[in-house]
Amino acid sequence: MHESLLARHPRLRLIDGATPVQRLHRVEAALGTMLRGARLFVKRDDLMSLGGGGSKLRKLEFVIGDAVAQGADTLVAAGPCQSNSARLTAAAAARSGLDCELVLTGLTPGDSADYRRNGNVLLNRLFGARVHEAADAVLARSLAQERCKALTATGRRPFMIPPGASSAVAALGYAACAFEIAGQETVLRRRFDRVIIANGSSGSHAGLVAGFAALGRAPSSITGFSVFSPVDEARSATLEHARAALRLLGCADAIDDDDVVVHGQQRGEGYGRITAQGVAAMRFMAAREGLLLDPVYSAKAFAGLLALARQGEFRPGENILFVMTGGSPALFAYRDQLDDLAGFNPSGAGIQKARPDLSLQGVSSREQS
Ligand SMILES: *Cc1c(COP(=O)(O)O)cnc(C)c1O
Repeated sequence: MHESLLARHPRLRLIDGATPVQRLHRVEAALGTMLRGARLFVKRDDLMSLGGGGSKLRKLEFVIGDAVAQGADTLVAAGPCQSNSARLTAAAAARSGLDCELVLTGLTPGDSADYRRNGNVLLNRLFGARVHEAADAVLARSLAQERCKALTATGRRPFMIPPGASSAVAALGYAACAFEIAGQETVLRRRFDRVIIANGSSGSHAGLVAGFAALGRAPSSITGFSVFSPVDEARSATLEHARAALRLLGCADAIDDDDVVVHGQQRGEGYGRITAQGVAAMRFMAAREGLLLDPVYSAKAFAGLLALARQGEFRPGENILFVMTGGSPALFAYRDQLDDLAGFNPSGAGIQKARPDLSLQGVSSREQS
């Protein structure tokens, strides 16, 4: 029913249907009494057929829908070289017959050959995007603007994708996700008391907040873990996009400042810098469930979920939904650092370090024994 609120916004379909909700039985078993009888579920937004999938496709459905409605023929995006947003912009452009130009920076976390060439960087080339390089984020933005001018001068119709594909329009994609979750709750006959998601450029969290507000549900049941901005900035960006998205849905503003819950403890040294907790969470999920988190976003958010469990935050009977946002191609960009932190180095040098890292994480009592 709430789907109709989205009907007047141009949308380019990039996702095949609802993404599955699955229960994390083995993670639950490993966490045991720490969960206090709460149940854990994942929303598989990593499971989409286009371009390796991921949360950006939800936002791009509305961003590119808008671009096409405005007559665009070329998508231009700037971002860090391992940007999932850039990769999925390139894939969506390929699917919809648009040209794509990307302006990418090395940004973080340094210089390994895999970070510069593997993962999303490799995929951008396969999707046929024209890739430019820039020294930093500011130069990347201005080069992207120059490319737009140059394209316009030759009669093309460029459209600039916002940073991280986040904007009020983009947030509609995650408002749609909130409606999808509500529909799945009816089928599953359970209600999700908390939703946990990574907060990067804030559009996804904002969209869920707007969607929950439109449904008349408490947006404070969504918890974001910031992986990019300091927590206050992430909170205000989320609030701003959420309010603007709610206006686009034609709903009265029903969002209070404290409705946006963002935690900052998992950010570590900042965007793209992996943390020991994130890597431990990634290994835990992979080894218990065979599911892939990404090092930049979802691993840190899942580490946040595990920290909440350890702090005894969950309540008996609560249903907790973790949004798996995708991004696993970036794993291959982090080979060196994962080798070091997780102790996968085949020389054996890192193997000694591996176990202390896991127990330090204290993921579960069983994990430590
Ligand atoms: C971009 C991204 C996020 C965060 O979404 P925002 O809307 O930027 O906050 C989370 N996970 C993955 C894998 C992403 O690529």
